[in-house]
Amino acid sequence: MFDFDTCNEARLRRDPAYDGLFFTAVRTTGIYCRPVCPVKHPLTKNVSYYPSAAAAERAGYRPCLRCRPETAPFCPAWKGTRTTVERALKMIESGALDSGSVHELAASLGIGTRHLSRLFARHIGASPVQMAQTLRIGRAKRLLDETNFHLSEIAFQAGFGSIRSFNAAFLTLYGRPPSSIRRQRIL
Ligand SMILES: [Zn+2]
Repeated sequence: MFDFDTCNEARLRRDPAYDGLFFTAVRTTGIYCRPVCPVKHPLTKNVSYYPSAAAAERAGYRPCLRCRPETAPFCPAWKGTRTTVERALKMIESGALDSGSVHELAASLGIGTRHLSRLFARHIGASPVQMAQTLRIGRAKRLLDETNFHLSEIAFQAGFGSIRSFNAAFLTLYGRPPSSIRRQRIL
């Protein structure tokens, strides 16, 4: 990784020789960019530099919509990895881990369980199981807000194996049971 001044000078002259070699993260916008990004330069005091798109994302930055640092062609390794992670996420979204195991998910992606877990730790910052749980809770929260379904129906539709695991997951995240959220809305 280059030092701050090298990155900063390369960024200010939009030097294509550095494209893919570092990424610029902008604190004030929460966005990260390639050095060649055509968007107006952010102030030097607001930027920091990362060696990879994944590192910038892990630090909480989102990819810029103009220069698309996450799909840049100069980084084939990351692109291949990203495709696998994206496929895994889609499968988790459609319920792969609500009924199946991480082992089965990894197998259907053609990789090992440990490799899948490593990819998730590196690019998502959470395990596949945590990701599935987050998605289930999100679905449940939407159903709680938008429908009058019975709680057991919501647990089932959101992909929880039982109302108990629904209650437990909800309590962990929000610090109160789903029934209290529903009551609050009705009142
Ligand atoms: Zn950009």
